[in-house]
Amino acid sequence: MTTYDYDLFVIGAGSGGVRAARIAATHGARVAIAEDYRVGGTCVIRGCVPKKLFVYAGRFHGEFEDAQGFGWSFEGAKPTFTWAKLKANKDKEIDRLEKAYRGNLERSKVEIFASRARFEDAHTVLLAGLNKRITAKTILIATGGWPSLPDIPGIAHAMTSNEAFELQRLPPRIAIVGGGYIAVEFAGIFNGLGVETTLVYRGDKILRGFDEDLRDDLTAAIARRAVRIVTGAAPSAMAKRDDGSLDLAFADGRSIHTDAVMFATGRTPNTRDLGLDRAGVACGAKGEIVVDAQSRTNIAHIYAVGDVTDRVALTPVAIREGHAFADTVFGGKPWTTDHHLIPTAVFSEPEVGTVGLSEADARHAHGEIDIYKARFRPMKYTLSGREERMLMKLVVDARSQKVLGCHVLGPDAGEIVQSVAIAMKMGATKADFDRTMALHPSAAEELVTLRDKWVPPQAG
Ligand code: FAD
Repeated sequence: MTTYDYDLFVIGAGSGGVRAARIAATHGARVAIAEDYRVGGTCVIRGCVPKKLFVYAGRFHGEFEDAQGFGWSFEGAKPTFTWAKLKANKDKEIDRLEKAYRGNLERSKVEIFASRARFEDAHTVLLAGLNKRITAKTILIATGGWPSLPDIPGIAHAMTSNEAFELQRLPPRIAIVGGGYIAVEFAGIFNGLGVETTLVYRGDKILRGFDEDLRDDLTAAIARRAVRIVTGAAPSAMAKRDDGSLDLAFADGRSIHTDAVMFATGRTPNTRDLGLDRAGVACGAKGEIVVDAQSRTNIAHIYAVGDVTDRVALTPVAIREGHAFADTVFGGKPWTTDHHLIPTAVFSEPEVGTVGLSEADARHAHGEIDIYKARFRPMKYTLSGREERMLMKLVVDARSQKVLGCHVLGPDAGEIVQSVAIAMKMGATKADFDRTMALHPSAAEELVTLRDKWVPPQAG
């Protein structure tokens, strides 16, 4: 019988890797984990957590404005914002979280190697930074994703979300390229912190794949909050001027003069230089590791979870996939992750919460559907005078009356949709929503008082 250094070796101490390592160790496996950068991975170090801290910071701008309608005034003692202080406090909080992650791994008796890991063969991993080789019976790849940048002249002058968290000072102006959730969130953050912000995207509308009403209403709201939106613009080159400012040119001849450019144009599975060919692990067209429902690759003892598999790139999904893997392989309790009906938020300003099918996807998949929607001014904005509407929308299967999709735009949309997702997961129908008592006064009560089916306006 071959003896291995470890029963399980995990490459990548992010959301999926840490959960899998800890659970496998509690099932009695001898486990080690390699981390190239900082323990906690994208979510903790340069993703969800620092992003949300920045989102909170950016929101005070609107809060201060709204406060005036509630009797506040700032004349004479105008509130000011200090980026260096936010950055220092964010860094302190991320350090605290990283320590907590390390502590949890150590208490579970998982050995941590501070090194990049690469396959030498299907059972051997090289820890390049430590010049050490180790073997494991089972190997889990949980290396996440990495921002992808287009190959255009001058792209070295651009930053990605990774660098946005480390900026030493706020630029006076920024152009954010991309129409996905990371681009839209950072547009809200920078705009909220007083940076003159331009959001640039190739298509004609942000948040591809989301419900059309959400996309339209969010675009209008973002523009009203003074983010400049440039559509149909494909970046073709960047150049730096003598004063340090940047020119971003587009294929159609237009250009933008700005102080910083952030690309949020997608993320690629992080399989570069991992030696997957030496282990014989098969990848798909985008470099993602191809796995089955049990997160097993084409090599029976090598598994992969999280963003590197390009299934659903969200933290709770990576955590569940890691947990299911560890219980299945080391705990004798096989289960698989259910990727159906995953609620998600976009922490834009205003916020988006969504679960289930968009109207267009539901129509495509189910044929006849009923739409219920309401647009109204959130109560807080009545006194502050903010001209912004909240959107609540339910997509319902006409035959079974099951709620197929719930889409919310406005304050606390994410919090609202998390709870709705429970009902939808249980198969709730529109009638179940209707017989639920309203909680008043709240925005969410609209979801249980949507009486009239939406009828499209007559053409002509
Ligand atoms: P990761 O957390 O990326 O962990 C991978 C780890 O592997 C990293 O620490 C990396 O350094 C390490 N590594 C890579 N290669 C090697 C190697 N060869 N050897 C050793 N170590 C290696 N998700 C949400 O659910 N909600 C949000 O609000 C949200 N916001 C986000 C905001 C931003 C700006 C970004 C970029 C992402 C956000 N995400 C959000 C997505 C979320 O961060 C990821 O889905 C999640 O972190 C994936 O976990 P993972 O375990 O697959 O990989």
